[in-house]
Amino acid sequence: MPQLSVVIPCYNEEDCLAELYQRVSAACAACTEHYEIVLVNDGSGDRTWPMIQDYASRDPHILGVNLTRNHGHQLALTAGMTMARGDRILVIDADLQDPPELLKDMMAMMDRGFDVVYGQRRQRAGESLFKKSTASLFYRVLLRLSETPIPLDTGDFRLMSRRALDALLAMPEQHRFVRGMVSWIGFPQTALPYDREERFAGTTKYPLKKMVRFAIDAITGFSIQPLRFASQIGLVLGALGALLVAYVIVAWLANETVAGWTSLMAVVVVLGSVQMFVLGVIGEYLGRLYMQSKQRPLFLVQDIACQAKVDAERAARLGFVAPDATARDQQVVSLDQRQIQDGAQAIQ
Ligand code: UDP
Ligand code: MG
Repeated sequence: MPQLSVVIPCYNEEDCLAELYQRVSAACAACTEHYEIVLVNDGSGDRTWPMIQDYASRDPHILGVNLTRNHGHQLALTAGMTMARGDRILVIDADLQDPPELLKDMMAMMDRGFDVVYGQRRQRAGESLFKKSTASLFYRVLLRLSETPIPLDTGDFRLMSRRALDALLAMPEQHRFVRGMVSWIGFPQTALPYDREERFAGTTKYPLKKMVRFAIDAITGFSIQPLRFASQIGLVLGALGALLVAYVIVAWLANETVAGWTSLMAVVVVLGSVQMFVLGVIGEYLGRLYMQSKQRPLFLVQDIACQAKVDAERAARLGFVAPDATARDQQVVSLDQRQIQDGAQAIQ
């Protein structure tokens, strides 16, 4: 059993991988010799997977997991965490914005009894003003809306204990906002403030569209406030409507014929757009409910790359986080058995 697992989702990160491999390996080796690095290839179109295979063939600490397609950051992360076997699990991005050297401090804080040590950004270098300000606004809005307090300016860079990770993996939700889920599980948690660096190479894999989707996943996953918003806005509009009716009656009694087209159009347009907006909000929740009801696997694994045999228990975890053992066993059958047997165990 390795003492430490490092989980890294990689999507088109060929320019970062060499430096990443070297720095993360050094940071792990400074803490323990029993470590594994789980590199998850999230359907990259570049040389990311061949490079991971190459590292895995030379270094027994490396476990490569190749997903069948791009499943997105949060699911790639989940795939890696599912495969990790360490007593402690570090999650870090592939672009080296979060310094792996902080692992030592995180380990020391965990020794003091914390189950989760999360990196909290003091500064973010090399990111656009737009990204910084939208991210900052997002975390503050989320904190107001969410029923679980989610720490500000905290990404997925964190060290977790085995029991915290197991609790996290027992949550079967499809639309995952991992940093919020970690807050939800509880256990003693603490922050390690740090300055976020610039991306080592390449460009962000979170264009605006993905950022918006991520934000909506976060809000719908942790709050039903937007649904309540519908009734609140209904109340406000109802009160305004009552005023309008009073005005109409008074105008009628006073025999003032109102031309009325402009005000009528304004009311129709405003009401129409509010109704569409509220329907859209309900649709967001309903859509998620629908997707969740299909109970699809969270991710699918195509290949694994490592040096020794992957044990059955670990192979059973490939594919998806199933709520019960039978479903999990069925999933294993659908995987390529030969690969599991030929596959290698990253850590003895
Ligand atoms: N990533 C991924 N799948 C995706 C998008 C991103 O695995 O569909 C990985 C990416 O390789 C990186 C991490 O998620 O390791 C965070 O992405 P990025 O650094 O581009 O996001 P940013 O820091 O710009 O928000
Ligand atoms: Mg990044």
